Amino acid sequence: MPKKLISDVDVKGQKVLMRVDFNVPLDENLNITDDLRIRATLPTINSVLDRGGSLILMSHLGRPTAGQFEEKFSLKPAAERLGELLGKEVQFATDTDGPDAKSKADALQPGDVLLLENVRFCPGEKKDDPEFSKNLAEMGDIYCNDAFGSCAKPDASLHGVPLAMGDKPKVVGFLLEKELKYLTETIANPTRPFVAIVGGAKVSDKINVISNLLEICDKVLIGGAMAYTFSLAKGGQVGKSLVEPDKVELAKELMEKGGDKLELPTDTHCGDDFSADCNKQVVQAGEIPDDFEGLDIGPDTAKAYADIVRGAGTVVWNGPMGVFEMPPFDEGTKAVAQAIADSDAVSIIGGGDSASAIKQLGFEDKVSHVSTGGGASLALLEGKSFETVAVLDEA
Ligand code: AMP
Repeated sequence: MPKKLISDVDVKGQKVLMRVDFNVPLDENLNITDDLRIRATLPTINSVLDRGGSLILMSHLGRPTAGQFEEKFSLKPAAERLGELLGKEVQFATDTDGPDAKSKADALQPGDVLLLENVRFCPGEKKDDPEFSKNLAEMGDIYCNDAFGSCAKPDASLHGVPLAMGDKPKVVGFLLEKELKYLTETIANPTRPFVAIVGGAKVSDKINVISNLLEICDKVLIGGAMAYTFSLAKGGQVGKSLVEPDKVELAKELMEKGGDKLELPTDTHCGDDFSADCNKQVVQAGEIPDDFEGLDIGPDTAKAYADIVRGAGTVVWNGPMGVFEMPPFDEGTKAVAQAIADSDAVSIIGGGDSASAIKQLGFEDKVSHVSTGGGASLALLEGKSFETVAVLDEA
């Protein structure tokens, strides 16, 4: 069921209490090294300001010890950067639900923006504490969630606060709406054939994803080191590849469940050392020599996977096909990324490494959606739903 969107509510003269994800990387001098997460919320922020509302922004940054202030986890640099991006002053509260936050929130005028200090400095945040949630909720007239990357965690600012808002509107921002649209609605009603590509280091991290995708997709293509655990399950020789021998039984179960839907590599690009200048060779899958390890899918597999992707109606990709950080073992990942960029399919790129690969290759504009949340996008691909979204109003 689609959720009510920020543009569906009248924000004029209202204080919008908005959960954002300003968990930006900082260097040792507390300079922001990548402000993408702040930029990503600008459409929602501007939509409120342009329509005469004011904003109280809440976020976490890093993993501070609750109850303890540490400057390196302060959101002050994020307030400054947001001010630069908006071209106007962004007020900053030195506490989260204390006197500074309350007096600044009370005094907000239409068009004003206030960022509260890191919610995780408060012990109530991780405990989803009702009292803490109530204190925050009292500051706003409308609640908005635009923090997709944090939605898998039912912390106070994401769960208790919207609950404590009672009958006041509780809506999604544009960033969260786009993530939900692709990662829930599109995959529930895909244009077929629906093809998933799953790679990465460990099968154990992605068992539930593969299992769910086998139910909803027409093809699931496997790459990355996890392919060698499947190869081991088929009785193949995997040399010194990264494998999980204790997951062999599970790999067998997934192969049985998947039948023809599950595609495994037919060849492997391997090396005698985990380095770019190792001795390399391409071998058939399951025939990796003892002193070699599989570091990428081979060229035949890359071509076969690219062909399947080109014929797809919908594509979901999570996880690289090999050690893409170390050329030439990035070739399989590049081939898959190129095929996705070339195809007319609706294409959804999970967060994390696949998102980095698409960005590095400059294909961001050639895909339908690049998710901003690694863990959160995996959770939705596993078929989970978020309590933090369930508590928001329906459209
Ligand atoms: P994940 O976080 O599970 O998506 O895994 C991503 C990591 O898996 C990347 O850092 C890749 O370098 C690594 N990876 C992919 N294929 C291999 C492989 N064949 N051997 C070792 N590491 C791999």
